[in-house]
Amino acid sequence: MSNPTKSFAVLPPAMLGMLGGGQLGRFFVIAAHELGYKVTVLDPDKNSPAGKIADVHLCAAYDDQAALQELARTCEAITTEFENVPAATLHYLAQTRTVRPSASAVAIAQNRVSEKNFFRDAGLPVGEYAVINSAADIPADDSLLYPAILKVAQFGYDGKGQARVTSQQEAQAAFASFKNETCVLEQMLELDYEVSVVLARDAQGKVAAFPLAENSHLNGILDVSIAPAQRASEVIKAKAQALASEVAEKLDYVGVLGVEFFVSHGKLIVNEMAPRPHNSGHYTIDACITNQFEQQVRALTGLPLGDARLHSNAVMVNILGDIWENGEPAWHKAGAHPSLKLHLYGKHEARPGRKMGHFTVLGQDKETVLNQALIARSELGIG
Ligand code: ADP
Ligand code: MG
Repeated sequence: MSNPTKSFAVLPPAMLGMLGGGQLGRFFVIAAHELGYKVTVLDPDKNSPAGKIADVHLCAAYDDQAALQELARTCEAITTEFENVPAATLHYLAQTRTVRPSASAVAIAQNRVSEKNFFRDAGLPVGEYAVINSAADIPADDSLLYPAILKVAQFGYDGKGQARVTSQQEAQAAFASFKNETCVLEQMLELDYEVSVVLARDAQGKVAAFPLAENSHLNGILDVSIAPAQRASEVIKAKAQALASEVAEKLDYVGVLGVEFFVSHGKLIVNEMAPRPHNSGHYTIDACITNQFEQQVRALTGLPLGDARLHSNAVMVNILGDIWENGEPAWHKAGAHPSLKLHLYGKHEARPGRKMGHFTVLGQDKETVLNQALIARSELGIG
């Protein structure tokens, strides 16, 4: 348990540290600036979206000793937007500074084997899976796991490092194509739909969960999030929030956590977690009293968590680099919708599959909001 006597607050205009300079880091910088903090971003890319708007951008690798010393010297509290930060980096910073979430929680979340084993050992509902350390671990064709998905244990995201396989032979070929890196082989579940919970947990163990979002994916990448989730019953909504809170408690987690679920044959199955704000929580920027990035600042600094309630129905649509194929997309079409909020991340270069921005449509009537979002989505040439 966290020690209540250790509670404190880092107050503005303190300098906060952010490991990672992507769009999640950029939204953190914006939220921190609004609250009066300064931010130092560590990211090796000189054009990183967060680095460009930070007070200080340390343009160096995540294990660069001089950069880490500088972070520890100048930042009162440090967080991450990126689960692949080396655990040694977080351990080093935690020797002298508040680091949230902890290195141990990030280490579990950054590896699919430790993540799945953690869920299973915690008694949470998970799908059937096998850990594949070598080709000999790949089960024979009569295994109930097939059809299955082979996923690289580390450094996968947005459907990268994943292959759908229907036999031992296909699994062996996929494993070889992943250079025999440790993988998990998951049974392919029949999905009714997918949902996620983003929550914040403070150092005293208080949890504020955002409303459940319903997510659809295109080519393994999040496409549309609907909040509140439209297909989930009240029972599923409450149960998903309770399961996500249980994950956070069992990790003694402090910070913002995203938990993805499958709903399969009416039952919730935990898919994976992210030790940071989550793409499916972007709707909170425009539709909640406190958004997921302000919550990240609050949990990090020890300010009380904000009110996570939704004030509008919302549909968020991701904007990927694919729609730059014929040059800059037709932004005036997005601008023509009065209740559409456009967010572009300032990325230097558009590439297919790269997250370049998103938009959220807001409103009081769920169906109108969804229809307008889908119209704007097709006007921009998405999908
Ligand atoms: P990522 O880290 O890329 O988000 P996920 O494990 O969440 O990886 O997989 C991406 C998507 O692929 C999921 O949201 C889901 O649509 C589909 N998927 C992944 N695993 C399974 C599974 N075991 N059964 C059915 N669909 C799956
Ligand atoms: Mg996922």
